[in-house]
Amino acid sequence: MTRNWTNWGRTQRSAPSRVERPADVGELQRVVAAAAAARTPVKVVGSGHSFSGVATPVDRIGVQLDLGALSGLISVDRDRRTATFPAATPLHRVSAALAAEGLALDNLGDIDVQTLAGATATGTHGTGLGHPGLAAMVAALTLVTADGERIRVGEDDHPELLPLLALGLGAFGVVDTITLRCVPRFLLRATETVEPFAGAVGSALARAETADHLEFLWFPHTDDVIVKTLERRPADEPVDAPAPLARWSNDIVMQNGALALACGLATLRPAWTARINTTATALHSTREYTDRSDRVFASPRLVRFREMEYAVPAERVTEAVEAVRRVIEENDWRISFPVEVRFAAADGLWLSTASGRRTAYIAVHRHLRDEHEDYFAAVEERLVALGGRPHWGKLHGRSAAQLRASYPRLPDALAVRDRLDPERVFGNPELTRILGD
Ligand SMILES: Cc1cc2nc3c(=O)[nH]c(=O)nc-3n(C[C@H](O)[C@H](O)[C@H](O)COP(=O)(O)OP(=O)(O)OC[C@H]3O[C@@H](n4cnc5c(N)ncnc54)[C@H](O)[C@@H]3O)c2cc1C
Repeated sequence: MTRNWTNWGRTQRSAPSRVERPADVGELQRVVAAAAAARTPVKVVGSGHSFSGVATPVDRIGVQLDLGALSGLISVDRDRRTATFPAATPLHRVSAALAAEGLALDNLGDIDVQTLAGATATGTHGTGLGHPGLAAMVAALTLVTADGERIRVGEDDHPELLPLLALGLGAFGVVDTITLRCVPRFLLRATETVEPFAGAVGSALARAETADHLEFLWFPHTDDVIVKTLERRPADEPVDAPAPLARWSNDIVMQNGALALACGLATLRPAWTARINTTATALHSTREYTDRSDRVFASPRLVRFREMEYAVPAERVTEAVEAVRRVIEENDWRISFPVEVRFAAADGLWLSTASGRRTAYIAVHRHLRDEHEDYFAAVEERLVALGGRPHWGKLHGRSAAQLRASYPRLPDALAVRDRLDPERVFGNPELTRILGD
């Protein structure tokens, strides 16, 4: 019996031939081996939060793998400060389990409902020039390959494969456990301010170099930017977090509710978009609070949108944001959703958007009801010209041939793919587009 699947952003749909929910690793190995023997493609879906088709099971013939039964903390190595989890563990469960052990993830994105394997597979990142994305925290993993074998990859086993398989786009096999490098538990002191666009964007890199974690949100058609700065503080300092009701009121009512209202209004009356965005920015009051790191990094996202995000060399951040502003003005588009600017440290992962360079991320969004194609394509053209690399989990229009120039290790990655998955058991149309046949 087929079952229709769609992702969070409603950009992908598929009716896989069946859904398999292995209860343990042995069963997972048998499912993969049987599918491979029958030449049936297999796709693990995490929490379905990728906008791109990386997680989309092949329509009608593919098997969808749901590893939800494999979740929780397996072990903690206090000396090495590492912790091992089943790969489908959601990030919020990872953070809660680590906090109970006096540990934390060094960085997180703006939500934490993704699975550990899904987040690392696409290069999910937070912000902070001194802090790489989640895949750079992977110390080891176990992978079920197309023949149903299980290999361990880490410092002591196939170490040469770790920089590829830690961020593997789901193309090399099924990751069933991940060992993470952690940091001691810490607090974050958040400061949110509203500042003039020119000064904030002009000094973005200099400020990112001194802040622990810096993020900008710019509502198009306005001259102000919401700046969020996070400072890392020791875990034993007092917490100064909003009470649960106040947090609910800010996260759900103010951020999500007001955004939903603003987007709805802007869709109905596009000519009002500039006024709506100016009001949305002005309503954003200056706030300061301190809480456990994961509670500050992530918050709920209830308004559904579509997103494209480009990674450019950090030095080009100002040019990149100005290019997005120009593209909106030149086309006279009315864009209600903000542009988001974040940063990451360089890493050494072969397919990471921050591979080999300090990175600024520029994300553009559109509400589910609004047409995103022309806006995203025009922004993409400008950001590619600045050396941009697309986020693998978000919408983009790049092909394998175009991506080759951005990733010097791509040929090596493809050689490993030929070795581990010669029949493309883990393939799907998106992987064919971005990696080739
Ligand atoms: C509201 C929202 C907010 C977001 N915020 C951020 C952010 O702050 N920063 C950022 O960088 N990104 C962000 N993203 C993007 C998101 O983090 C990534 O797309 C991520 O991959 C989603 O994780 P998932 O568990 O939903 O994985 P899925 O989208 O389900 O899968 C992603 C990929 O991982 C593969 N995969 C999953 N599990 C396994 C496994 N066990 N073995 C092998 N492959 C596997 C899938 O096959 C697929 O290729 C956001 C997305 C949304 C919708």
